[in-house]
Amino acid sequence: MTRRFIPVAEPVLAGNEKKYVNECLESGWISGSGNYVEAFEKSFADFCGVKHAVSIVNGTAALHVALLALGIGRGDEVIVPDLTFIASANAVTYCGAQPVFADVDARTWTLDPQDTAAKISARTKAVMPVHLYGHPANMTPLLELAQDHDIHVIEDAAEAHGAEYKGQRVGSIGDIAAFSFFGNKVVTTGEGGMITTNDAQLADQARLLKGQGMDPERRYHFPIVGYNYRMTNLQAAIGVAQMERIDWFIERRREVAAWYDNALKNLAVTKMMEASWAKSVYWLYSICIPEEIDRDLLMTRMLERGIETRPFFYPTHRQPPYRLNAENQTFPVTTKLSAQGLSLPSSARISKEEVAYITDALGVCLQAAAKS
Ligand SMILES: *Cc1c(COP(=O)(O)O)cnc(C)c1O
Repeated sequence: MTRRFIPVAEPVLAGNEKKYVNECLESGWISGSGNYVEAFEKSFADFCGVKHAVSIVNGTAALHVALLALGIGRGDEVIVPDLTFIASANAVTYCGAQPVFADVDARTWTLDPQDTAAKISARTKAVMPVHLYGHPANMTPLLELAQDHDIHVIEDAAEAHGAEYKGQRVGSIGDIAAFSFFGNKVVTTGEGGMITTNDAQLADQARLLKGQGMDPERRYHFPIVGYNYRMTNLQAAIGVAQMERIDWFIERRREVAAWYDNALKNLAVTKMMEASWAKSVYWLYSICIPEEIDRDLLMTRMLERGIETRPFFYPTHRQPPYRLNAENQTFPVTTKLSAQGLSLPSSARISKEEVAYITDALGVCLQAAAKS
């Protein structure tokens, strides 16, 4: 038997995706409105336990519109973790506001409330915790901080559909939240996103912004400059089919993570943790390798065995557009994780046998990649 190449992430489209997309094709409802758009929003809101879900073209646009709906603009600051995908900071920049970076916590790898507190200024309008790699951020201290300083909380939940903080699903904890349905995420529509909130006014504002700013009561009247950020009915059809299986996706991911946890016990790596208050969905099962290991070489050796791995995000403050935002600041935890973090294959398709193969290979490759 030849072994399949094992990617870090892959979609599972084995439910009603084809059937529902075909229904769109047959009915002609393929554009930015239709039954599936409504059904997807409804099922996603119910799943997150929120009153409103607004579908949108992708996760980055979800962040952009969520920030605009909160009224964030020129001269404002938004605190973003240094360790995240670039879209978190970019969405702030799109609004004319400035992302201010805070370090992450060494245990959970999510926004550190203490460093966040230190970064609050008179211009801070919001804080954006990211539920990184499927693990929820530590929300209580961040919510308290936000309340004390009268600022908003926007959750970047792009990587964490179904993750729970103290029993509450992410997307329902802050003022507003953004999800992504990119092809490698826990739930996918190819490209796509969703905004969730319990605030009817924020939801209305988000709908206005994503639909060219057209007045819902008066067609072809545009009280504001909006965007064409609509999700298509085709994508929403895939989303509806994915939501039918979301519990299974999450169960499978948690099962795969438990296999990894067990198999990695005897290796000299720091495993991804799950805080006592958290239910992680393990978007990417990730580890931190010792400093003495050449990560690039390790990844090459793994790839030779048909196993894809992925390095952690670069610190955002080191990316060229953001270097000036963080002059003379240090982010020790992000810097370390960024250099030593590695994500392993994590889809809902991974078998127990594959986890054994991957972790055996990791043991061998760690030795082969020790710096001399
Ligand atoms: C994927 C991702 C996004 C952006 O989502 P897109 O749908 O790709 O635009 C934003 N934030 C984080 C943390 C992500 O991982």
